[in-house]
Amino acid sequence: MDTTPAPRERDRLISELTEFLSIPSVSALPEHRADCRRAAEWLLADLRRLGCPVVTLIEGKGHPVVWAESPRVPDAPTVLLYGHYDVQPTDPLEEWDTPPFTPTIRDGRIYARGAADDKGQVFCLLRAYEAARGSDGRPPVNVRFIIEGEEESGGRVIDDLLEREPERTEVDAALVADMSYYAPGWPAVYTALRGLCYAEITVRTLERDLHSGTYGGAAPNALETLVRLLSQLKDASGRIRLPGLYQSVKSPTKEELATWRRLPFKEREFLKHEVTGKALTGLKRYSVFERTWALPTFEIHGITGGFTGQGAKTVIPAQASAKVSLRLVPGLPMAKVERLLSRTVKALAPRWAKVQVRLHHGGDPVVVPVKHQVFQVLDQAFESVVGRKTVRIRAGGSIPIVPRLAARGAPVVLTGIGLPDDGLHSPNEKLDLKQLWDGIATFRKFFELMGAAKRGG
Ligand SMILES: [Zn+2]
Repeated sequence: MDTTPAPRERDRLISELTEFLSIPSVSALPEHRADCRRAAEWLLADLRRLGCPVVTLIEGKGHPVVWAESPRVPDAPTVLLYGHYDVQPTDPLEEWDTPPFTPTIRDGRIYARGAADDKGQVFCLLRAYEAARGSDGRPPVNVRFIIEGEEESGGRVIDDLLEREPERTEVDAALVADMSYYAPGWPAVYTALRGLCYAEITVRTLERDLHSGTYGGAAPNALETLVRLLSQLKDASGRIRLPGLYQSVKSPTKEELATWRRLPFKEREFLKHEVTGKALTGLKRYSVFERTWALPTFEIHGITGGFTGQGAKTVIPAQASAKVSLRLVPGLPMAKVERLLSRTVKALAPRWAKVQVRLHHGGDPVVVPVKHQVFQVLDQAFESVVGRKTVRIRAGGSIPIVPRLAARGAPVVLTGIGLPDDGLHSPNEKLDLKQLWDGIATFRKFFELMGAAKRGG
């Protein structure tokens, strides 16, 4: 199905999306606080224009949550749409071909921070909702929008809100469009998400930095101590050395493994075009899918300490720290891994070092049941637009809010319109416009089918 809008409509949609993407709503950086609010307000105005009678900002300690409700449609089911308007920081800025907040179209793709994660997808839902409305402005289903501004930075505003008012998730289905297709032409639904345990490890070995000429050879170096310690947390084969970690992992089912084996996948292509490295790493006896979806990981994200400026300074650093994280799979709740990491790091610390492990943020891994009828409706929608039903796969990433959305028993549909090479969290993030047009058509169809399914019995 060709879903490309007529030229004028296409121009309108692109200029609206460009406006939204131009707002640098980086939630992790305090200097972008006002920009985050601007992005939330952009959504408010848009939802009002779409005729939602309830449109509010819900405030908390961090960035506000956008909440909106469509006009009431009696006897129709209620769908909750989740997305986030905040984005990741943009560094390294010099690796962007065009500035991250100057959305640019090249080769049928729009390049900008947030193009795929998640502003482009939020925009897709809004426009699908717009298209699904009848001439009276009413959608075929009741829709609630919940769009947060702290997904990328681990804030608590939405969590607190849903803890306080869980009835907001009393719906027939929750749709989370923050994911991607498995591959072009292969829409996906996700059956599990990995959790996250993000921590900072700090090592102090001296009261102050020392001269390496005077004291080098006798004084303990904090950076060296830290690096030795980190190197003991994972061995060269990729095995994480936290005692008991792997024993707790719940393996994927036979059915899942069989589905994964049937997916089109070329390891060499994956290496060359997505990973862009020289070789893959990790536990070799597991497939790439098992390593990225069903096993825990340990990554070092950054190390600071000592002297990193221009020229040379012969210093023995007194303190050093590393930001690290583990991705968690079913069987490994965050609290357990946090304890394990803390205990192991402290046990590995040599006697001259004072070591601290501070948890930044994280979330539990989730298993998402996909048997509910709503998944068949989504399949029908994708099949009519893209020509293929969804494949059931897992995701390596985390969306901490998912368990909260499911708390009142609604099925949570994890899907999305991105492609695996969108460059989420990386320079030159993009969204293919074809994916956007197909996405708008698919979700429009989904709303229509949901409305028809309930009323038809
Ligand atoms: Zn996201």
